[in-house]
Amino acid sequence: MPELPEIETMRRAIRPGVMGRRITAVEVRQPKVVADLDATEFANRLLGRTFTDLTRRGKAIVAWMDDGQRMVMRMGMTGCVVVAPHDHPEDRHTHIVISLDDGDELRFSDMRRFGRFWLFRADDEDTSGIRNLGPEPDDPALTAEYLEERLGGCRRAIKTCLLDQSVVTGIGNIYSDEILFECGIDPSCQAYRLDRADWEKLADEIPRCMRFFVENNEMSPDEWLESMGREYRNTPYIRIYGHSGEPCPVCGTTLVRKVVGGRSSVSCPMCQREHR
Ligand SMILES: [Zn+2]
Repeated sequence: MPELPEIETMRRAIRPGVMGRRITAVEVRQPKVVADLDATEFANRLLGRTFTDLTRRGKAIVAWMDDGQRMVMRMGMTGCVVVAPHDHPEDRHTHIVISLDDGDELRFSDMRRFGRFWLFRADDEDTSGIRNLGPEPDDPALTAEYLEERLGGCRRAIKTCLLDQSVVTGIGNIYSDEILFECGIDPSCQAYRLDRADWEKLADEIPRCMRFFVENNEMSPDEWLESMGREYRNTPYIRIYGHSGEPCPVCGTTLVRKVVGGRSSVSCPMCQREHR
């Protein structure tokens, strides 16, 4: 499942292709992809509109229109958005095609069909879940004080807390393992057992980790179209997730896999403290 760095890669790769482009046709082949709105109304309201910006909030991409509408796109497990010339071969799981006035198409494909699109007018209530998201990793509001205040009394495992999108948005199973390794904190450690130094480390490491993996995943629009979201250039930089049974990159101890809050987690028994 894509996390913040992979969604940011997608946003940066497709943004140049849609900016300032007018929508000349909208084809919804899989109506259930459009949430909370009839697919025909979705298409009619987008027709003739022009893209003015493409932003990201957590793991959602938000396309802004010239009339104040915004289209919120969530990728689910396997969703992918590309900008392609109209004669470029189509992915066979393509569910939405938005034609642009330069002949290109914004295409949404999704094999597992968990991805969703919403369309809101400026004064509509946002039902996409964005309203409930916590700060972005690079938000100055994400401080040690904030984390300690939100989680300092929490009995859940710190890994589970980092996956809670209302605390901080964008972190999933992969990067929570990477962040906790860099901070030397065991993923199963209950949040209330962490001390001030731990919260400081987390507040520093969360934005650093996300920035690092965004930078190492960068792709041009053409490279993105060819990869169709299936290529992750930052995978070689992942040190912990998926490496159970291998030696710790710092101390050489065998990395262990355990289940924390129902999610698979990898950690080093030597480098990461449990705070008992
Ligand atoms: Zn180690």
